[in-house]
Amino acid sequence: MMRRLLALLLFLGLTWAAGVVHVVQPGETLYRIARNYGVPLEALARANGIENVNLIRAGQRLVIPTGPSWPESWGLTVDPWPAVQGRPLVFRLPAGVSAVRIFNLKVPAERGLALAPVPADARPGLHPFVLEGPGLSSEILVTAGGYGHENIVLSEEKNALLDREKIRAEKARLLEACGGWSPEMLWHGPWSWPLKRVEVTSAFGTRRTYNGRPGGWHGGVDLRGEEGTPVYAPAAGVVGLAEKLYVRGNAVVLRHGLGVCSGYYHLSRLAVEPGQRVEKGDLLGYVGMTGLSTGPHLHWEVRLLGQTTDPAAFTDPALFRELAPLAASAP
Ligand SMILES: [Zn+2]
Repeated sequence: MMRRLLALLLFLGLTWAAGVVHVVQPGETLYRIARNYGVPLEALARANGIENVNLIRAGQRLVIPTGPSWPESWGLTVDPWPAVQGRPLVFRLPAGVSAVRIFNLKVPAERGLALAPVPADARPGLHPFVLEGPGLSSEILVTAGGYGHENIVLSEEKNALLDREKIRAEKARLLEACGGWSPEMLWHGPWSWPLKRVEVTSAFGTRRTYNGRPGGWHGGVDLRGEEGTPVYAPAAGVVGLAEKLYVRGNAVVLRHGLGVCSGYYHLSRLAVEPGQRVEKGDLLGYVGMTGLSTGPHLHWEVRLLGQTTDPAAFTDPALFRELAPLAASAP
Protein backbone atom coordinates (compact mmCIF):
# COMPACT_ATOMS: atom_id res chain seq x y z
CA MET A 1 0.00 0.00 0.00
CA MET A 2 2.73 2.45 1.03
CA ARG A 3 4.84 1.49 -1.96
CA ARG A 4 1.97 2.07 -4.37
CA LEU A 5 1.28 5.46 -2.81
CA LEU A 6 4.97 6.35 -3.06
CA ALA A 7 5.06 5.27 -6.71
CA LEU A 8 1.99 7.39 -7.45
CA LEU A 9 3.51 10.44 -5.74
CA LEU A 10 6.77 9.91 -7.60
CA PHE A 11 4.88 9.60 -10.90
CA LEU A 12 2.90 12.80 -10.32
CA GLY A 13 6.03 14.59 -9.09
CA LEU A 14 8.01 13.70 -12.22
CA THR A 15 5.10 14.61 -14.47
CA TRP A 16 4.70 18.07 -13.04
CA ALA A 17 8.43 18.70 -12.60
CA ALA A 18 8.90 18.07 -16.31
CA GLY A 19 6.59 21.01 -17.04
CA VAL A 20 5.59 19.76 -20.48
CA VAL A 21 2.21 21.30 -21.22
CA HIS A 22 0.39 21.12 -24.52
CA VAL A 23 -2.42 23.55 -25.37
CA VAL A 24 -5.02 21.77 -27.54
CA GLN A 25 -5.40 23.42 -30.96
CA PRO A 26 -8.69 23.52 -32.90
CA GLY A 27 -9.21 20.23 -34.75
CA GLU A 28 -6.62 18.27 -32.74
CA THR A 29 -7.55 14.89 -31.33
CA LEU A 30 -6.11 13.29 -28.21
CA TYR A 31 -4.96 10.43 -30.42
CA ARG A 32 -2.91 12.78 -32.62
CA ILE A 33 -1.41 14.64 -29.64
CA ALA A 34 -0.38 11.33 -28.06
CA ARG A 35 1.21 10.21 -31.34
CA ASN A 36 3.07 13.52 -31.82
CA TYR A 37 4.63 13.27 -28.35
CA GLY A 38 5.29 9.57 -28.71
CA VAL A 39 3.32 8.70 -25.56
CA PRO A 40 0.62 6.03 -25.19
CA LEU A 41 -2.91 7.45 -25.58
CA GLU A 42 -3.93 5.80 -22.31
CA ALA A 43 -1.04 7.35 -20.36
CA LEU A 44 -1.88 10.80 -21.74
CA ALA A 45 -5.54 10.38 -20.85
CA ARG A 46 -4.62 9.11 -17.39
CA ALA A 47 -2.17 11.93 -16.66
CA ASN A 48 -4.96 14.44 -17.34
CA GLY A 49 -7.90 12.62 -15.82
CA ILE A 50 -9.65 12.32 -19.18
CA GLU A 51 -12.28 9.55 -19.15
CA ASN A 52 -13.60 9.92 -22.69
CA VAL A 53 -10.71 10.34 -25.15
CA ASN A 54 -13.11 11.92 -27.68
CA LEU A 55 -13.97 14.76 -25.33
CA ILE A 56 -11.22 17.37 -25.43
CA ARG A 57 -11.62 21.03 -26.36
CA ALA A 58 -9.42 23.65 -28.05
CA GLY A 59 -7.48 25.69 -25.48
CA GLN A 60 -7.42 22.84 -22.96
CA ARG A 61 -4.01 22.44 -21.29
CA LEU A 62 -2.65 18.90 -21.22
CA VAL A 63 0.29 17.63 -19.20
CA ILE A 64 2.47 15.37 -21.30
CA PRO A 65 3.58 12.55 -19.01
CA THR A 66 7.21 12.30 -20.06
CA GLY A 67 9.91 14.45 -18.49
CA PRO A 68 13.62 13.76 -18.82
CA SER A 69 14.26 10.28 -17.47
CA TRP A 70 17.85 10.75 -16.23
CA PRO A 71 18.59 11.54 -12.57
CA GLU A 72 19.12 15.18 -11.55
CA SER A 73 22.50 14.21 -10.11
CA TRP A 74 23.89 14.01 -13.66
CA GLY A 75 23.75 17.82 -13.88
CA LEU A 76 22.47 17.56 -17.45
CA THR A 77 19.85 19.86 -19.01
CA VAL A 78 18.52 19.80 -22.56
CA ASP A 79 16.76 22.76 -24.18
CA PRO A 80 14.09 22.79 -25.48
CA TRP A 81 12.36 19.85 -23.82
CA PRO A 82 10.76 18.12 -25.58
CA ALA A 83 12.93 18.57 -28.67
CA VAL A 84 11.20 19.61 -31.91
CA GLN A 85 11.84 18.22 -35.41
CA GLY A 86 14.16 20.56 -37.33
CA ARG A 87 15.04 22.81 -34.36
CA PRO A 88 18.49 22.91 -32.68
CA LEU A 89 19.01 21.37 -29.26
CA VAL A 90 21.38 22.70 -26.56
CA PHE A 91 22.93 20.23 -24.11
CA ARG A 92 24.32 21.72 -20.86
CA LEU A 93 26.74 19.00 -19.86
CA PRO A 94 28.33 17.71 -16.69
CA ALA A 95 32.15 18.00 -16.46
CA GLY A 96 34.16 15.42 -18.35
CA VAL A 97 31.82 14.99 -21.36
CA SER A 98 33.77 15.19 -24.63
CA ALA A 99 30.87 14.71 -27.07
CA VAL A 100 27.20 13.76 -27.35
CA ARG A 101 26.21 10.93 -29.67
CA ILE A 102 22.69 11.41 -30.98
CA PHE A 103 20.81 10.82 -34.29
CA ASN A 104 23.89 8.92 -35.60
CA LEU A 105 25.98 12.07 -35.17
CA LYS A 106 28.88 12.92 -32.87
CA VAL A 107 28.40 16.43 -31.47
CA PRO A 108 31.62 17.71 -29.83
CA ALA A 109 31.26 19.47 -26.46
CA GLU A 110 32.76 22.93 -25.95
CA ARG A 111 33.03 24.45 -22.46
CA GLY A 112 30.18 22.27 -21.19
CA LEU A 113 27.82 22.96 -24.10
CA ALA A 114 26.88 20.99 -27.20
CA LEU A 115 24.66 22.26 -30.05
CA ALA A 116 22.94 19.32 -31.74
CA PRO A 117 20.57 19.22 -34.72
CA VAL A 118 17.22 17.42 -34.63
CA PRO A 119 16.57 16.10 -38.16
CA ALA A 120 13.30 17.46 -39.63
CA ASP A 121 12.23 13.85 -40.30
CA ALA A 122 13.20 12.44 -36.88
CA ARG A 123 10.23 10.30 -35.79
CA PRO A 124 8.25 11.76 -32.85
CA GLY A 125 9.02 9.79 -29.70
CA LEU A 126 12.11 8.81 -27.74
CA HIS A 127 15.61 8.83 -29.28
CA PRO A 128 18.73 7.51 -27.50
CA PHE A 129 21.82 9.59 -26.77
CA VAL A 130 25.20 8.86 -25.17
CA LEU A 131 27.44 11.27 -23.26
CA GLU A 132 30.98 10.34 -24.29
CA GLY A 133 33.47 10.44 -21.46
CA PRO A 134 31.35 9.27 -18.53
CA GLY A 135 29.51 6.97 -20.95
CA LEU A 136 26.06 7.89 -19.63
CA SER A 137 23.08 7.21 -21.87
CA SER A 138 19.40 8.13 -21.84
CA GLU A 139 16.71 9.30 -24.25
CA ILE A 140 15.44 12.55 -25.77
CA LEU A 141 11.75 13.12 -26.47
CA VAL A 142 11.15 14.53 -29.98
CA THR A 143 7.83 16.08 -30.99
CA ALA A 144 6.45 16.79 -34.47
CA GLY A 145 7.24 20.19 -35.98
CA GLY A 146 3.71 20.55 -37.39
CA TYR A 147 5.02 21.08 -40.93
CA GLY A 148 2.68 21.44 -43.92
CA HIS A 149 2.69 20.01 -47.44
CA GLU A 150 3.11 21.58 -50.88
CA ASN A 151 3.47 20.46 -54.50
CA ILE A 152 5.98 22.30 -56.69
CA VAL A 153 5.22 22.36 -60.41
CA LEU A 154 8.38 22.61 -62.51
CA SER A 155 8.68 23.31 -66.23
CA GLU A 156 10.39 20.65 -68.41
CA GLU A 157 13.56 22.75 -68.54
CA LYS A 158 13.77 23.14 -64.76
CA ASN A 159 12.71 19.50 -64.31
CA ALA A 160 15.74 18.45 -66.36
CA LEU A 161 17.85 19.91 -63.54
CA LEU A 162 16.51 17.18 -61.20
CA ASP A 163 19.37 14.93 -62.27
CA ARG A 164 20.21 12.62 -59.33
CA GLU A 165 23.95 12.57 -60.02
CA LYS A 166 24.16 16.34 -60.24
CA ILE A 167 22.10 16.73 -57.05
CA ARG A 168 24.36 14.28 -55.22
CA ALA A 169 27.58 15.96 -56.41
CA GLU A 170 26.24 19.40 -55.53
CA LYS A 171 25.28 18.31 -52.02
CA ALA A 172 28.78 16.89 -51.48
CA ARG A 173 30.26 20.20 -52.67
CA LEU A 174 27.98 22.07 -50.27
CA LEU A 175 28.87 19.93 -47.25
CA GLU A 176 32.55 20.36 -48.07
CA ALA A 177 32.05 24.15 -48.22
CA CYS A 178 30.27 24.05 -44.84
CA GLY A 179 33.35 22.44 -43.30
CA GLY A 180 33.16 20.31 -40.17
CA TRP A 181 32.78 21.26 -36.54
CA SER A 182 35.10 23.94 -35.13
CA PRO A 183 35.25 25.24 -31.54
CA GLU A 184 35.00 28.98 -32.38
CA MET A 185 31.48 30.35 -32.44
CA LEU A 186 31.93 33.32 -34.79
CA TRP A 187 28.61 35.07 -34.21
CA HIS A 188 27.53 37.33 -31.39
CA GLY A 189 23.87 37.96 -30.60
CA PRO A 190 20.76 36.55 -32.28
CA TRP A 191 20.88 36.35 -36.10
CA SER A 192 19.01 38.84 -38.26
CA TRP A 193 17.07 37.91 -41.42
CA PRO A 194 19.06 38.18 -44.68
CA LEU A 195 16.54 40.53 -46.38
CA LYS A 196 15.41 43.93 -45.06
CA ARG A 197 11.76 43.10 -45.75
CA VAL A 198 10.83 39.61 -44.51
CA GLU A 199 7.98 37.73 -46.19
CA VAL A 200 8.18 33.94 -45.94
CA THR A 201 6.61 32.26 -49.00
CA SER A 202 7.57 28.69 -48.05
CA ALA A 203 8.45 27.74 -44.49
CA PHE A 204 11.20 25.39 -43.36
CA GLY A 205 10.23 21.72 -43.08
CA THR A 206 7.28 21.79 -45.51
CA ARG A 207 6.87 18.30 -46.93
CA ARG A 208 7.21 18.56 -50.73
CA THR A 209 6.34 16.80 -53.93
CA TYR A 210 7.80 17.90 -57.29
CA ASN A 211 5.31 17.47 -60.18
CA GLY A 212 3.53 14.98 -57.90
CA ARG A 213 6.66 12.97 -57.01
CA PRO A 214 7.84 12.87 -53.36
CA GLY A 215 10.84 15.19 -52.84
CA GLY A 216 11.58 15.20 -49.10
CA TRP A 217 11.08 18.38 -47.12
CA HIS A 218 11.94 22.02 -47.69
CA GLY A 219 15.41 22.44 -46.21
CA GLY A 220 15.28 26.21 -45.84
CA VAL A 221 12.94 29.20 -45.87
CA ASP A 222 11.94 30.96 -49.07
CA LEU A 223 11.76 34.74 -48.78
CA ARG A 224 9.95 36.93 -51.29
CA GLY A 225 12.26 39.40 -53.03
CA GLU A 226 12.45 41.28 -56.31
CA GLU A 227 15.36 40.46 -58.60
CA GLY A 228 18.32 42.58 -57.42
CA THR A 229 17.22 42.96 -53.75
CA PRO A 230 20.37 43.05 -51.56
CA VAL A 231 21.06 39.96 -49.38
CA TYR A 232 22.90 40.59 -46.10
CA ALA A 233 24.84 38.27 -43.77
CA PRO A 234 22.58 37.46 -40.76
CA ALA A 235 25.64 36.71 -38.61
CA ALA A 236 29.43 36.86 -38.73
CA GLY A 237 31.21 34.08 -40.58
CA VAL A 238 33.70 33.08 -43.26
CA VAL A 239 32.69 32.57 -46.91
CA GLY A 240 33.04 28.83 -47.64
CA LEU A 241 31.66 29.02 -51.17
CA ALA A 242 30.66 31.73 -53.66
CA GLU A 243 30.01 30.19 -57.07
CA LYS A 244 27.36 29.02 -59.55
CA LEU A 245 25.76 25.62 -58.79
CA TYR A 246 23.35 23.57 -60.97
CA VAL A 247 20.35 23.34 -58.66
CA ARG A 248 20.99 26.23 -56.26
CA GLY A 249 22.21 28.65 -58.93
CA ASN A 250 24.53 31.43 -57.80
CA ALA A 251 25.25 30.46 -54.23
CA VAL A 252 26.99 31.77 -51.11
CA VAL A 253 27.78 29.56 -48.11
CA LEU A 254 28.99 31.02 -44.80
CA ARG A 255 30.73 29.05 -42.03
CA HIS A 256 29.86 30.25 -38.53
CA GLY A 257 31.65 27.73 -36.28
CA LEU A 258 30.24 24.97 -33.99
CA GLY A 259 29.33 23.05 -37.16
CA VAL A 260 26.83 25.75 -38.28
CA CYS A 261 26.79 27.00 -41.87
CA SER A 262 24.25 29.05 -43.83
CA GLY A 263 23.41 29.15 -47.56
CA TYR A 264 21.95 31.85 -49.85
CA TYR A 265 20.75 30.48 -53.19
CA HIS A 266 19.35 31.44 -56.63
CA LEU A 267 21.18 34.80 -56.44
CA SER A 268 21.39 37.00 -59.53
CA ARG A 269 24.86 38.26 -58.55
CA LEU A 270 27.48 37.48 -55.89
CA ALA A 271 29.22 40.16 -53.82
CA VAL A 272 31.73 38.07 -51.80
CA GLU A 273 34.77 35.86 -52.43
CA PRO A 274 35.61 32.47 -50.88
CA GLY A 275 37.71 32.81 -47.71
CA GLN A 276 36.43 36.32 -47.00
CA ARG A 277 35.47 37.16 -43.42
CA VAL A 278 32.02 38.82 -43.17
CA GLU A 279 30.31 40.58 -40.30
CA LYS A 280 26.59 40.68 -39.55
CA GLY A 281 24.92 43.01 -42.09
CA ASP A 282 27.60 42.75 -44.81
CA LEU A 283 26.35 42.45 -48.41
CA LEU A 284 26.53 38.87 -49.77
CA GLY A 285 24.82 39.27 -53.17
CA TYR A 286 21.45 40.01 -54.79
CA VAL A 287 18.15 38.08 -55.07
CA GLY A 288 17.62 36.26 -58.37
CA MET A 289 16.19 33.08 -59.89
CA THR A 290 19.26 31.17 -61.10
CA GLY A 291 19.28 27.35 -60.85
CA LEU A 292 16.15 25.37 -59.92
CA SER A 293 13.81 28.24 -59.08
CA THR A 294 10.27 29.03 -60.22
CA GLY A 295 10.68 32.79 -59.74
CA PRO A 296 12.91 35.36 -58.04
CA HIS A 297 13.21 34.62 -54.30
CA LEU A 298 15.87 33.91 -51.69
CA HIS A 299 16.22 30.34 -50.44
CA TRP A 300 17.92 30.68 -47.04
CA GLU A 301 19.26 27.49 -45.50
CA VAL A 302 21.06 26.69 -42.24
CA ARG A 303 22.87 23.40 -41.66
CA LEU A 304 24.07 22.13 -38.31
CA LEU A 305 26.58 19.28 -38.67
CA GLY A 306 25.19 18.76 -42.17
CA GLN A 307 21.51 18.60 -41.08
CA THR A 308 19.16 21.27 -42.43
CA THR A 309 17.76 23.16 -39.45
CA ASP A 310 15.09 25.87 -39.21
CA PRO A 311 16.95 29.17 -39.87
CA ALA A 312 14.35 31.09 -37.84
CA ALA A 313 15.59 29.23 -34.73
CA PHE A 314 18.89 31.12 -34.99
CA THR A 315 17.11 34.50 -34.82
CA ASP A 316 15.69 33.46 -31.41
CA PRO A 317 17.39 35.42 -28.57
CA ALA A 318 16.78 32.44 -26.24
CA LEU A 319 19.08 30.22 -28.33
CA PHE A 320 21.79 32.86 -28.29
CA ARG A 321 21.47 33.32 -24.52
CA GLU A 322 22.19 29.63 -24.04
CA LEU A 323 25.23 29.72 -26.33
CA ALA A 324 26.51 33.13 -25.17
CA PRO A 325 29.42 31.67 -23.13
CA LEU A 326 30.90 30.44 -26.45
CA ALA A 327 30.41 33.68 -28.42
CA ALA A 328 33.28 35.60 -29.94
CA SER A 329 33.71 39.04 -28.38
CA ALA A 330 31.58 41.66 -30.12
CA PRO A 331 33.32 43.34 -33.10
ZN1 LIG B 1 13.57 27.10 -50.99
